[in-house]
Amino acid sequence: MKVAELTKTLAYGAAPEAAKPALDWIAEHEGKFQLFINNEWKNPSGKEWFDSINPATGKKLGSVAQATPADVNAAVKAARKAFAGWSKTPGHIRARYLYAIARQIQKHSRLFAVLETMDNGKPIRETRDIDIPLVARHFYHHAGWAQLMDRELPDHQSLGVVGQIIPWNFPLLMLSWKIAPAIAMGNTVVLKPAEFTSLTALLFAEICASVGLPPGVVNIITGDGRTGAALVEHSDVDKIAFTGSTDVGRIIRKATAGTQKKLSLELGGKSPFIVFDDADLDSAVEGVVDAIWFNQGQVCCAGSRLLVQEGVADKMIKKLRARMEKLRVGDPLDKAVDIGAIVAPVQLKQIAALVKQGADEGATMWQPSWAAECSKREGCFYPPTLFTNVAPASTIAQVEIFGPVLAAMTFRTPEEAVKLANNTRYGLAASIWSEDINLALDLATQVKAGTVWINSTNQFDAASGFGGYRESGFGREGGREGLFEYVKRIPSTHKLEPSPGHGGRQDGGEKRTSANAKTLGAARLPAQKASEKRTSAGLSLSGMPPIDRTAKMFIGGKQARPDGGLSLTITSPDKKIIGEVGAGNRKDIRNAVEAARAAANGWAKSTAHNRAQILYYLAENLAARGDEFAQRIRQQTGATLANANAEVEAAIEQLFTAAAWADKYDGRIHGVPQRNVTLAMPEPMGVLAIVMPDEHPLLALAALAAPALAMGNALVIVPSPQHPLSATDLYQVLETSDVPHGTVNIVTGQRDELAKTLSEHDDVDAIWYAGSTDGQAAVQKASAANMKRTWVMAANGPLPDVDEVLREATQVKNIWVPYGA
Ligand code: NDP
Repeated sequence: MKVAELTKTLAYGAAPEAAKPALDWIAEHEGKFQLFINNEWKNPSGKEWFDSINPATGKKLGSVAQATPADVNAAVKAARKAFAGWSKTPGHIRARYLYAIARQIQKHSRLFAVLETMDNGKPIRETRDIDIPLVARHFYHHAGWAQLMDRELPDHQSLGVVGQIIPWNFPLLMLSWKIAPAIAMGNTVVLKPAEFTSLTALLFAEICASVGLPPGVVNIITGDGRTGAALVEHSDVDKIAFTGSTDVGRIIRKATAGTQKKLSLELGGKSPFIVFDDADLDSAVEGVVDAIWFNQGQVCCAGSRLLVQEGVADKMIKKLRARMEKLRVGDPLDKAVDIGAIVAPVQLKQIAALVKQGADEGATMWQPSWAAECSKREGCFYPPTLFTNVAPASTIAQVEIFGPVLAAMTFRTPEEAVKLANNTRYGLAASIWSEDINLALDLATQVKAGTVWINSTNQFDAASGFGGYRESGFGREGGREGLFEYVKRIPSTHKLEPSPGHGGRQDGGEKRTSANAKTLGAARLPAQKASEKRTSAGLSLSGMPPIDRTAKMFIGGKQARPDGGLSLTITSPDKKIIGEVGAGNRKDIRNAVEAARAAANGWAKSTAHNRAQILYYLAENLAARGDEFAQRIRQQTGATLANANAEVEAAIEQLFTAAAWADKYDGRIHGVPQRNVTLAMPEPMGVLAIVMPDEHPLLALAALAAPALAMGNALVIVPSPQHPLSATDLYQVLETSDVPHGTVNIVTGQRDELAKTLSEHDDVDAIWYAGSTDGQAAVQKASAANMKRTWVMAANGPLPDVDEVLREATQVKNIWVPYGA
């Protein structure tokens, strides 16, 4: 027999990894696993236990404690107690603990890998070579951030007690993504692993105790969704970090609404895998294997939608089927197995149901010739599955299947590829395959996803942030950007002290002095001229009755009457009528959002230099009418002239600050170990709604809206209902400052009514709301519909610093570009 013939007939022999280390560890615990609270093992107060099953065999691995709300409370109490000391522990000491944890994970890596494979069903090749090394890397990387926190985040402090809830698809890896940054930044943690996969978290708890981590810094409470809900609802938790389904994410968004708990959500996805006709098809096929059959497709960022350019579609599908035929499904402990077991029967059933639905809806289903063997095995196995002739709106093209199922579609042009790629409510990841780097990078900026891999897929590293756009959630894990999820700014306020040059007369006729002339430069001169002609803005110089003027809305660059034909009367602090504004309604908001959406793309694509120029121009034109704006502030708020002048000056300065940042809020290149440049690029949120605070009506506008504009967002602004006239007076300034139509839209009216419509609106990408705590809760609850990012603040609190505003105005996209011949 010739060698060539031999290679055709050779079958794989079994190459199992020994289960013994994991079985011994389970036996040491007599198959029973308690709760880890305050570095002690505790029985669950409800005396309830559940089984942990090996999905590859259906056999029980052990009993795990079901934590009750009382147990959750004990864990939170322990974490709170520990926080006092841990948050004050020097960064270097915290770094040593993280380093020790990383070392211990490496030293016990085989036990972790085997245990993870047995508990979850994923192939040992993956746990051994991907999950566990990445876990260790996460702790090493964040040991570094603990060391550098004081230096790199000097204005920030730890949050407090963090509740963390993780899924079953990457049990230990998700734990490390959550715990490492949290404790590096001086927080203490209560973590709930997924019910299906608790064991490696409990082994990790032992590591924490063994390295002498102070009691209460890390607490692990096992249990099902009830335990998770109790943690979310606990009043002494400062932040919830969640990874899992969008449905549960939505429940958590609603449950935390109005509680002041910080929240990050890493949810589902339906990520596109885009192949252009100039791609290296063999590499792309290997990419698909990694994208959708890695971890049995149970990956939030799985490339589950294959989009192939028409010219190569047949060839690609043919190559893919040939490759699928060679994939091996089987015992996850076998080192030569590609696809292991699905995590649980319920998940297997769901996959099968969705596959049936796909076929019923008319798509063509294909599985390898040996597919039927999967259902004959004991345990939960499902064959790799490919759908072609998939309609973009069909269930399998839209719904996250979370299994080894790929839906293939074709496109003709790059524009069509972008449209198809973005035709999803999710936005977690995308993979782009082309030998034309210009094309690939051009697409990378247009695809709405938190991570984009070029000619690669499923690349992860602790140095790079990961997280979603749209209904894939908000917040980032990993990288410098991920640290901000676990710190808060040490408060500082915008002080509106009158500058030394002010003072003197306080009457309405006084001209603004040159106190801030040195910061204003030439822009100050027209203001001085203008103020010479003016006595008191809004009042007639001639003694004639003033012409009645109700401020309209400002939508799409035009002044528009309120749809409802109603007006609101605006009064001064001494109850005198000072004007009227339109009472906006749902229709006005819809028009404003439509106008903002039409403008958003163009504004985001305009150069940062251009955006800066427009902001400087706005500042110039505001300065030219500075006296008028100062008088308006006085009228509305009763501020002294000096304070009103100082507010105008501060607003102008804010416009300058925002303009300055427009071309300086750079991204980064993350130092990942792969041969890659990983570009962390801040991108605008898109259509951003800002419901303004009451205090300092003009300064608040400048402090919030200007940085948002600088970052390329199109805005729908609801001015303070008490003091809206500073905003409505701005229309003419906006009109004369080259602000593109639709980039800034202003709708006056009842704050909470308009905020409700904005938070429910599916085409608003993020909402900032200043108002009552009830209003904050309502906005956060309503925003759960499309999982828009929210930022809430008091109506009369201090204004945030510009770096915080810039961060809230952007989301980081990580683009992975490989290099090497
Ligand atoms: P879930 O979102 O239900 O589970 C994630 C975590 O949340 C688990 O620890 C779970 O506990 C916990 N949990 C469940 N209900 C609540 C609640 N009301 N409050 C707080 N925590 C809760 O995902 P599933 O495991 O049920 O998987 C269902 C689907 O979700 C999958 O088919 C897949 O589509 C998607 N998914 C997405 C993931 C991702 O990474 N984006 C990861 C996992 C699933 P418990 O496990 O004990 O129920």
